[in-house]
Amino acid sequence: MRITDDQIRRAPKVLLHDHLDGGLRPSTIVELAAEQGYRGLPPGTAGDPGALGAWFREAADSGSLERYLETFAHTVAVMQTRDGLARVACDAAEDLAADGVVYAEVRYAPEQHLEQGLTLDEVVGAVNEGFREGERRARAAGSRIRVGTLLTAMRHAARSLEIAELANRHRDDGVVGFDIAGAEAGHPPTRHLDAFEYLKRENNHFTIHAGEAFGLPSIWQALQWCGADRLGHGVRIIDDIKVTEGREGGAAGEGAELGRLAAYVRDKRIPLEMCPTSNLQTGAASSYAAHPIGLLRRLLFRVTVNTDNRLMSGTSMSREFAHLVDAFGYGLDDMQWFTVNAMKSAFIPFGERLAMINDVIKPGYAELKSEWLFADTASGSSPDGAGHRDEQQGTA
Ligand SMILES: [Zn+2]
Repeated sequence: MRITDDQIRRAPKVLLHDHLDGGLRPSTIVELAAEQGYRGLPPGTAGDPGALGAWFREAADSGSLERYLETFAHTVAVMQTRDGLARVACDAAEDLAADGVVYAEVRYAPEQHLEQGLTLDEVVGAVNEGFREGERRARAAGSRIRVGTLLTAMRHAARSLEIAELANRHRDDGVVGFDIAGAEAGHPPTRHLDAFEYLKRENNHFTIHAGEAFGLPSIWQALQWCGADRLGHGVRIIDDIKVTEGREGGAAGEGAELGRLAAYVRDKRIPLEMCPTSNLQTGAASSYAAHPIGLLRRLLFRVTVNTDNRLMSGTSMSREFAHLVDAFGYGLDDMQWFTVNAMKSAFIPFGERLAMINDVIKPGYAELKSEWLFADTASGSSPDGAGHRDEQQGTA
């Protein structure tokens, strides 16, 4: 029987790849735009969060890069003040916690939030403050979440060393790592080698968006030239794997031939931050069922499930998992496997990751998996098909 959407939502989840400027509530955009006097919202959406949310999804689904990028112009526009940044971060922590996320690394590019005079350090301070407030509100509402941030540098810009230094300066203050993002074609990660070498010398962590639309050379550079700890997306690693007919299943490696790079990624347990819905929108995959995550999970790559841009993709961690459950028949054991993979790959200290796995994630899944044992005494209506009609009738 398929696990229910309610079980998926209640299951502890870990998110490693989520953009702060891609996850705003439409209602918050409308409010912040009014407060700040931003008049650039698409026609007819300024007072209407429902219409604005639909506009975002439509623009992101359109297949037009221009329209997709326009969506970020609106979110970034209302994230130029201390209050705006803190509000957006606070909302994000609350929304993720309500969705059952217990640990998240949310990324943003500080250099995109300087238009109204904030300094890079003030941007980081405002976002941190918002996340701490969101964590407190989530706790008051009965859920627990921890949020770390990754500071992103833009591939086409020339500020990566400065942003890497910023990340290092705030590493004991909510910032857990560094990332580079932006169009892959024409902007190889090797352009930012000084930033990566600096972070390595500082024993700090970083991930690189690589192998989303662009192929294997991008992944190879991110790993072997830049030394990335994780790969943002990395879906094109599939290009280095040949599935051999009729030998499906079995232990890792059965039914597939791995090239040198794919073998390296699996052998070294390089985490892949996969974002299925986002990949469908950008054309990196044609359907959930055809998404490389199915094969990569079977081959026991270190695969994780992520949202990328919750607003533009109209998604959440629970929705991403629900799509995978429908496409691949995954159950709670698979969800736990993805979640433990993600927690192992987080950038917080080893002891904290271990405690999250043993004291939060595993007990959470154990409780969900044991619910059927106590179905008769569960409060509220009994689940469909649970049987035990006579007892119910007896108490009626
Ligand atoms: Zn991304």
